[in-house]
Amino acid sequence: MNKDIVPKALLASVLLGLVLWGGLPLRRHRHFDVPIIKGPGVTEVRRLSEFSPGLAGTAGDTNVYVLQGREPGGKALLMGNTHSNEPEGMLTALIVIERGVVEKGTLFVIPFFNNSGSRNTRPGDGYPLYFDVATDWGARRFRYGNRDASPLDQWPDPDVYIHYPDRQLLSYIDVRNTNRTWPGRAAGPLMERVTFGAMELMRREKIDLAVDIHGAETMFPVTNCIVAPESSVKIATLASLTVKAMEGFESHVEPSPSGFRGLSHREIGDHGPSLPFLLEAPIPFLDQPTGPKTVQFLLDGKDPFLLSLAKKKKLFVPYDESGWPLEKRVGQNLSVTLELFRQFSKKTADRAIAVRGVPRYADVVKNGVGHFLADPSKAPAGAVVMN
Ligand SMILES: [Zn+2]
Repeated sequence: MNKDIVPKALLASVLLGLVLWGGLPLRRHRHFDVPIIKGPGVTEVRRLSEFSPGLAGTAGDTNVYVLQGREPGGKALLMGNTHSNEPEGMLTALIVIERGVVEKGTLFVIPFFNNSGSRNTRPGDGYPLYFDVATDWGARRFRYGNRDASPLDQWPDPDVYIHYPDRQLLSYIDVRNTNRTWPGRAAGPLMERVTFGAMELMRREKIDLAVDIHGAETMFPVTNCIVAPESSVKIATLASLTVKAMEGFESHVEPSPSGFRGLSHREIGDHGPSLPFLLEAPIPFLDQPTGPKTVQFLLDGKDPFLLSLAKKKKLFVPYDESGWPLEKRVGQNLSVTLELFRQFSKKTADRAIAVRGVPRYADVVKNGVGHFLADPSKAPAGAVVMN
């Protein structure tokens, strides 16, 4: 008998133990579903694979919540979690789903646009796996995801990602980034099938406005803004000026770069029927030179290193001891989205979109995000959808 067998077996079991210890929480996170309550305005829950059959049965497929109004009008698509480490987009979408009632027109809301990314994480960066949002009745728990889709769902990555159809050379990782794979292909890599699904939805449903909701670093110049291509810039500017004058917060307009391919705000306008807008709220958690990436920091956006950088004028947004809390980020997104609808409706009365029940900036800052989230345990039978 090999005399090394005992130490070898011991070593193998230690290694297996480490794999299980590290891997099981990641597995649980990947399979953790978030309950979403169909609010009073939700008329139907569809799947993105309806528009992109190549998504059926994959982790790229995701729910599309439809809020059809009493009166006909225009149509809008809202997307959250294009980047799943920017949760203010998903929470904005969730409040619309759980609270919104459409009077005129129709909303299509996708809270987990990159579903695979929302089940991925970045352990090397010390990301938390979950975060809890305090509500009036307890806490709602959410997956904290990653910017890119999981390699478990789309792999291997190419050396260079060649954008379709422009053949621009992009970073290899962007093949899993649903803000670089627009307009997508029916049979392309999984994330191209996701963006293709949204393009098809916009084409078939004749969507007027597409709002893609993100968060951006405070040290990144494109932050706290509405990114808009030439076709959308007028409505974006009117919305930006109105929220500043009426609600007292800044969200300036950034032009969408014409030479950079794959971005939602570029390709939706160039290849689809809709006016695209990409919202960026500052999320200090994503900045590099910060303290530990704790859930508290994700929620309140307070960090001493960023504070000292702000004093040296290294940030692109005003920053003080109050940080940049979640309620400000989500409140901003909600107000800007509602304002985009209002400005579009003023100009295009036959395609008006009117929504009630959705809180605006001041209301969310005062009462917190959780105040507007429903309690799944009190929801009527059949109203909870696992996402
Ligand atoms: Zn983003």
